[in-house]
Amino acid sequence: MTLDTVRRNLARVREQIARAAAESGRTPEKIRLVGVSKYVDSVTTRLLVEAGCHDLGESRPQQLWSKAAAPELADLPINWHFIGHLQRNKVERTLAASSLIHAVDSERLLHAINESAESQNLCPQVLLEVNCSGETAKHGFTADELRSFLPTLGAYPNVQITGLMTMAALDNDPPAEKSFETLRLLRDEVQRSAPPNVSLTEFSMGMSGDFPAAIRQGATLVRIGSALWEED
Ligand SMILES: *Cc1c(COP(=O)(O)O)cnc(C)c1O
Repeated sequence: MTLDTVRRNLARVREQIARAAAESGRTPEKIRLVGVSKYVDSVTTRLLVEAGCHDLGESRPQQLWSKAAAPELADLPINWHFIGHLQRNKVERTLAASSLIHAVDSERLLHAINESAESQNLCPQVLLEVNCSGETAKHGFTADELRSFLPTLGAYPNVQITGLMTMAALDNDPPAEKSFETLRLLRDEVQRSAPPNVSLTEFSMGMSGDFPAAIRQGATLVRIGSALWEED
């Protein structure tokens, strides 16, 4: 992988983001690209930052910790996003290393994050993961669970809950855009029952195969990996 290749990939993805935004009457500045670096080592990750992408996502805690501390990346300004499933025993180090946790998928996890944030004197931003596809293997709250959980979120004062995240079904059933639309409609429905410490303005949805659909449905964060690491 060379810097030129990564630059071209990044330019192509940004163009596609701009096009999808224009098609739906949105400004591309409202859509943040999180470059998913889980496929490559720290040296190759560096190329993406040099190409101009300063928001990076990892889905495994150990990989996030090790890259956040890697000498190869130490001189660069990077916002680390944790995008994967988080276990409670990994919360402390993950909070210390990341600017946004994308996939809080249980009350127990939110509780652990709130406690750890208090003891570390942090106020992390998190998103709640919703299972919009109905796939049983997926993590995340169901729509009904979110409806009943939301009014209780005032009990987590050390966490800033800023939005929702979802992943489309692997087999495209339901189609990705349908799941993204479900998330947007659910947000519109529930936002009035959210306590004052909760604002549901961010939507983390869309990956390499489906981000234009996610942007049409209001994504503010797209998590893109493979499209950035294609060889020429
Ligand atoms: C790997 C991963 C991505 C990126 O997927 P690509 O299809 O490679 O763009 C996005 N979100 C999560 C949660 C991931 O684990």
